[in-house]
Amino acid sequence: MRWTEDRSENVDDRRGSGGGGGMLVGGGLGSLIIAAIVFFLGGDPSAILNSGATSSAPTEQRDLTKEELQLREFVQMITAENEQTWTKIFSENGMEYSPAKVVMFEGMTQSGCGTAQAAMGPFYCPADQAIYMDMSFFAELQNRFGAQVTEFSVAYVMAHEMGHHVQNALGTLQKTDQLRRSGQYSETEMNRVSVATELQADFYAGLWAKYTENREKFLEPGDLEAAMSAAEAVGDDNIQKRSQGYVNQEGFTHGSSAQRKEWFMKGYNTGDIRQGDTFNALLK
Ligand SMILES: [Zn+2]
Repeated sequence: MRWTEDRSENVDDRRGSGGGGGMLVGGGLGSLIIAAIVFFLGGDPSAILNSGATSSAPTEQRDLTKEELQLREFVQMITAENEQTWTKIFSENGMEYSPAKVVMFEGMTQSGCGTAQAAMGPFYCPADQAIYMDMSFFAELQNRFGAQVTEFSVAYVMAHEMGHHVQNALGTLQKTDQLRRSGQYSETEMNRVSVATELQADFYAGLWAKYTENREKFLEPGDLEAAMSAAEAVGDDNIQKRSQGYVNQEGFTHGSSAQRKEWFMKGYNTGDIRQGDTFNALLK
């Protein structure tokens, strides 16, 4: 992908600032925690957020390397392109867009949803409307899950998380949270709601790519394929095969590799937010 000129001021880079350990929040905060939406781990993210695990060692204060500073600039750029695109889509629908914050961290950091840890992968926290990203996730995506990681695959993951922010702004997350809290639905049923939520975030990521391409002409050959490779790697079937050796569809929380690709491309090809009702398509 081609770099654009835009940079956002809503990126909070906490790498190199030291700390991490010693600021753990234990289980006592449990009732205050609103489940964050974790990019690729299945199951209940609040369990991870709440565990107060100490697996990540505190990090030392240090200067960031040239590569790390460049990565920050990249994240500022993708954040800016998300802000421009979603401001436009919201205004086309008579609404005002309020941007998400992006927190880059290493090891662990505090989020509005509890302690964020590198092992969780990127996630969106509705409570403070922020995306938390430990960039080491992308090395893992490549090494453990076999994705071809490029700049655009990082952009796709960020756009997916921004998709959850859009769902928060549109009230979608609040509705799914009500369903969960009502206790009326089985785990399998709630997993299907989760899949619809995640596939819609993929649809929004595709929609973002389309609008941003129309405005910036930033895509280069192979970019969409790289996003699809990342989508494929984080499909529930692929993750289950690698972690437990078999596929159990009822346990899906994010959708299969094929579904994730399908909904990203639907967003990209239609360029129409009204085509993204995954709930109606999947929960009939
Ligand atoms: Zn997600």
